[in-house]
Amino acid sequence: MFSADRRLTSSLDKSRPMNRRTETISLIGAGLTGPLLAILLVKRGFRVEIYERRPDMRRVRISAGRSINLALSVRGIHALTEAGLWNPMRDIIIPMRGRIMHAQTGELTFQPYGKDEAEVINSISRADLNIALMNAAEAHGVTIHFQQQCTGFDVKSAALSIRDGKTGRYSTMQPGAVIGCDGSASAIRTEMLKLNRFNFSQEYLDYGYKELTIPAGLEGKHLLDKNALHIWPRGNYMLIALPNIDGTFACILFLPFEGAHSFASFTTRSDVCEFFKTHFPDATLLMPQLADNYFANPTGGMVTIKCSPWHVEGKLLLFGDAAHAIVPFFGQGLNCGFEDCTFLVELLDRHGPDWARVFHEFEEARKVNTDAIADMAIENFVEMRDRVADPRFLFRKKVELALEARYPRHFVPKYAMVTFHRVPYSIALARGVVQDRMLTELCDPIERVEDLDWVRAEQMIRNELAPLEQVS
Ligand SMILES: Cc1cc2nc3c(=O)[nH]c(=O)nc-3n(C[C@H](O)[C@H](O)[C@H](O)COP(=O)(O)OP(=O)(O)OC[C@H]3O[C@@H](n4cnc5c(N)ncnc54)[C@H](O)[C@@H]3O)c2cc1C
Repeated sequence: MFSADRRLTSSLDKSRPMNRRTETISLIGAGLTGPLLAILLVKRGFRVEIYERRPDMRRVRISAGRSINLALSVRGIHALTEAGLWNPMRDIIIPMRGRIMHAQTGELTFQPYGKDEAEVINSISRADLNIALMNAAEAHGVTIHFQQQCTGFDVKSAALSIRDGKTGRYSTMQPGAVIGCDGSASAIRTEMLKLNRFNFSQEYLDYGYKELTIPAGLEGKHLLDKNALHIWPRGNYMLIALPNIDGTFACILFLPFEGAHSFASFTTRSDVCEFFKTHFPDATLLMPQLADNYFANPTGGMVTIKCSPWHVEGKLLLFGDAAHAIVPFFGQGLNCGFEDCTFLVELLDRHGPDWARVFHEFEEARKVNTDAIADMAIENFVEMRDRVADPRFLFRKKVELALEARYPRHFVPKYAMVTFHRVPYSIALARGVVQDRMLTELCDPIERVEDLDWVRAEQMIRNELAPLEQVS
């Protein structure tokens, strides 16, 4: 089940420079994966053009509420490093060492993400990241055509249809290969629905999200600890805040779409303010523009998309969210999309532009893993919403860290495998199930980490968990 990914990573032919190639690769979408993939392809001698539906956000202000922060972790960092972009990014990220839980009473609880100071996740503004990637892509010779919307792809003739957003005119072209990096509502994927035996599922959560802001304090100071992700878990509702380099925090409110306290039920400023004062009192004090932000910003939906095949012979490939959108609760959608970039170019380094083979092997290696992170992201939704404030849950997390400290090669918490290691997601999922069972057995009879039955722990770990490096 896991062998495809394993084979791929173990036999890397590291970024062997390729001769300049004549064919042009067309990418659809200059969001987050498109420009990064473009850079990695250009570095291998390909000519790359990107068609992007939106205007250039460096010249036109992006719409309010669309600049939500992202948590960047090891998989994303690895891909950025391969493209030579990680060091410059360091100026626009803020490391977050753990979660700070805000209780309704105002009490704060810190829960570290990793086993030490090196295991952090990094807050970055989506807009800053997108701009940095587009600048870098253009500096590498990639042409980005803005306001050029892909409206179709003829799978027989491999012709791509583009609508010019400025003139309204349509044109068609036949590039060497087309890669759909056009996000969760992919137009390219919609075309593939016409194929025989194309499998497709999409599942929306009953919850939506809205971006809000905690402004900076005096002299641009952060009003909360800036090296943490702040979370106000309240069962059916949740607020989180991620730091920005300008002293602000980008907050995301998660609420049900319908019901008593929901996006549908809040129709006035006082509805919103009263709700916040009751459920998030300390945050409310820091949000003077709360009601303005709330009504100015759009409400977004969250969807899991699974489909197959991702490719049509060597002509077309779905990539990033277009192939496998996931809900944001593991902070992995982008990291997973960036990992797609790593894998695709590793296959190109191995096989050259035998697109049919590269696309086929790409899907074979990735899909089992993107399905796994999709499932783990849903699990984490429940965990963040309902469990992070539960003392027993926090106790299990402490035991997990203690086990990892003693058996760092064998017992690595699932969160760490996903976030701080590049172990295939499917392996993280499978080992996570085994470790969960061990934790239940070890934690249920005790109240304190000191009372852990280390003999039993050692027995279970040695019997059931091979060292992580042997399976990844
Ligand atoms: C609330 C929220 C929080 C998130 N937090 C995290 C996080 O902390 N960490 C993480 O790793 N991931 C996170 N994600 C997921 C992450 O945002 C996505 O996985 C990532 O943006 C996917 O990149 P992409 O390039 O595939 O798609 P996108 O970034 O969506 O880019 C798609 C691009 O294609 C363009 N486009 C669309 N249709 C067309 C068309 N027909 N023609 C031309 N262009 C088109 C769009 O304008 C856009 O520029 C979060 C997502 C959400 C919604």
